[in-house]
Amino acid sequence: MDQYTEENPKYKILVSLHREGILGIIMSSTLVPTSDPTAARYPPVGNFIAGRFDPTSSRTINVVNPSDGSLLSRVPLSSPDDLDAAVRAGAEAFPAWSTTPIKERVQIFYRYRALLERHFDELAELITEEHGKIRSEAEAEVVKAIELSEFACSLPQIVAGEVLEVSRGIECRTDHYPLGVVASIVPFNFPSMVPHWTIPNAIALGNCMILKPSELVPLSAGRIAELLSEAGLPPGVFNVVHGTVEVVEAICDHPGIAAVSFVGSTRVAKLVYRRATANLKRALALGGAKNHLFVLPDANPDLTSSNVVASMSGCTGQRCMAGSVMLAVSETDHIVQQLVTQARTVIPGKNLGPVISPAAKQRIEHHIEAAVAAGATLLLDGRGATVPGREGGFWIGPTILDQVRPDMAIAQEEVFGPVLAIIRARDVDQALAIENASPYGNAASVFTESGGLARYVTERASAGMVGVNVGVPVPREPFSFGGTKSSKFGHGDITGRPAVLFWTDLKKITTKWALQPDANWMS
Ligand code: NAD
Repeated sequence: MDQYTEENPKYKILVSLHREGILGIIMSSTLVPTSDPTAARYPPVGNFIAGRFDPTSSRTINVVNPSDGSLLSRVPLSSPDDLDAAVRAGAEAFPAWSTTPIKERVQIFYRYRALLERHFDELAELITEEHGKIRSEAEAEVVKAIELSEFACSLPQIVAGEVLEVSRGIECRTDHYPLGVVASIVPFNFPSMVPHWTIPNAIALGNCMILKPSELVPLSAGRIAELLSEAGLPPGVFNVVHGTVEVVEAICDHPGIAAVSFVGSTRVAKLVYRRATANLKRALALGGAKNHLFVLPDANPDLTSSNVVASMSGCTGQRCMAGSVMLAVSETDHIVQQLVTQARTVIPGKNLGPVISPAAKQRIEHHIEAAVAAGATLLLDGRGATVPGREGGFWIGPTILDQVRPDMAIAQEEVFGPVLAIIRARDVDQALAIENASPYGNAASVFTESGGLARYVTERASAGMVGVNVGVPVPREPFSFGGTKSSKFGHGDITGRPAVLFWTDLKKITTKWALQPDANWMS
């Protein structure tokens, strides 16, 4: 997501249009803050089924603002019956939606894209409230949601089938057909961007969708549902069912759901992939990550230190593309020193958001303690961070550990916080051996001025998304997103052109008209 910081020209244009009021701001959300200061800030979140918000179920859990610990709302723990109602709504909407020509279907996303722009500030504010990320990071999510919707608008150009006269008088053509009711299960770390990895593509391709947001950040999904309806999406085409384990298991088991996409931790990705495929569903499950940044001695110190720090601390390290291990190859002390100086400018509450929960804070601090106990050197310690006026928030500052060994837990496990573990490597091959041995394969990046060395590393790194002098090598549309090894289960990627194959069946139609009745080898 670094590409969507203030440096990104597209981001700059959108944000400046807003600041100048050119796009306007319309606050028509049903998500109106309550006036009672002792109550939750927003009314309870409801499931969205067949174009309506359902009254909240009796079983709910709290939704908390991570920056101050205050109560934001309550989210229902939906049951298999709730899910069944959503599947029925999707199945009812499917015949009309799937037979609407794709050029008509994408008109919804042209209008939806305009609504995302119109509500830009409100949507970013909501992301900051429920997730805690700083404003520019929340705005970047909305920019990315817009870009993903734009890609869906281009699908008619992409999915046009092929046709060929394969034999005399015989023609073969291909067409993409939607699957039916599909589900998308998403994590907490991007309340808007990750849902948009799947919603526009799956729906524009003619499917009806059930979104299962993270129970930690359920509010943005309701606004997405409202804006899709406002854009003209028929009831039942997009549904939201909240909850946790029970409803996810019901999604994997429900015979009316044809395909399941999942984004979250590797532990749960494995559970979901196994359960959905055991029920003979199409599944794609993106998991966790441990991303390696190769820093070679000839790397540009300014570019490298700023990109490494942005990679490890952006979104408070809570992104699957965050740099987590820096492989410092040979003489790189000067870069290590510069990045520690740079990291000191990242201040909780100013340009660094909180982590999502007290449990996450505890887990990250435990990782740091264990690394120090195992012999790592603490160059910068973010533990014990507080923010005046927001003492109830879950804060942790940027942390850098040097002299980490590859066998330490901090080098192997996903930390998901603003923590960088530096492993010293003798040469590039030793660094590559460390990266290759990781069970994860999401992202890797190399910092060097040498084209030959960059190529050597990008060819040999095992990750699915590899960068050169880029801290967070997220492929932008139309390129696709997806890792390897334990960072992804299933074939293909979740965005871009590969998403077309995931969300559709390819029908092959062979036709012979009677004008040439003589037999040939295809008769
Ligand atoms: P998580 O795995 O805890 O939760 C993801 C989803 O699964 C949520 O909707 C949650 O309600 C549900 N869930 C949780 N436990 C479950 C269980 N036992 N059975 C069934 N469903 C369950 O992940 P998270 O903490 O929300 O998100 C952070 C993780 O997501 C990190 O590991 C991060 O690397 C990963 N992630 C990966 C990508 C990627 O593209 N590979 C992108 C974003 C986040």
